[in-house]
Amino acid sequence: MYKAQFKLALAALLLGDAGVRLYYQKGRRGFKRAVVKHERREKFLYYLVGLGLIPIFFYLFTSWIDIFRLPLPPKVRWLGAWLIFAGDLLFIWSHKALGRNWSPILEIRKGHSLVTDGPYRFIRHPMYAAILLIGIGVSFLSANWIVTLSYMLPVICLYLIRVSDEERMMIEKFGDEYREYMRRTGRLTPKLRT
Ligand code: SAH
Repeated sequence: MYKAQFKLALAALLLGDAGVRLYYQKGRRGFKRAVVKHERREKFLYYLVGLGLIPIFFYLFTSWIDIFRLPLPPKVRWLGAWLIFAGDLLFIWSHKALGRNWSPILEIRKGHSLVTDGPYRFIRHPMYAAILLIGIGVSFLSANWIVTLSYMLPVICLYLIRVSDEERMMIEKFGDEYREYMRRTGRLTPKLRT
């Protein structure tokens, strides 16, 4: 049976993310870009991710897609809430650390600096890691096929298509400093010391 608590928890946990994003998007006004890569492709992917979030609204506010339910036990669904919560914290931490260097598409801005502290000390893509973690949490908590696929597919595509180009762009800009940083860190999970 569908319980209102699951929907309420999902709404509350995602509202936090939207707030953080809007806050940092606003903070970007007036910044000048120095380099931009694959602009059309990147904008397309970014909007695709945005479109993928629409079914969440249908899930939250209507019963139209309730028939696409996944048979997950309540324990797994609440685990999803905790995963979203952990993802939210990582998302906020990453935004705080990246500050003005954040951008929705691949670009280097005037005065761009290489961030290697906060979560960037351990992994190179904490924001993507957070978005993926939130996605797994959303899948568990919503227990809905449509919500799961429409969130996860664009996010996975964006990550797979973008990540090598992003690292190439960072090497072009920061050279050996970024290469050295790559040796110390993993992409989505910390590198274990040998
Ligand atoms: N991939 C990172 C950042 C996502 S935002 C993450 O998942 O956390 C994308 C922008 O961040 C890129 O356009 C790039 O300019 C910038 N960026 C990525 N890694 C960075 C770093 N370590 N320091 C500064 N800027 C970075």
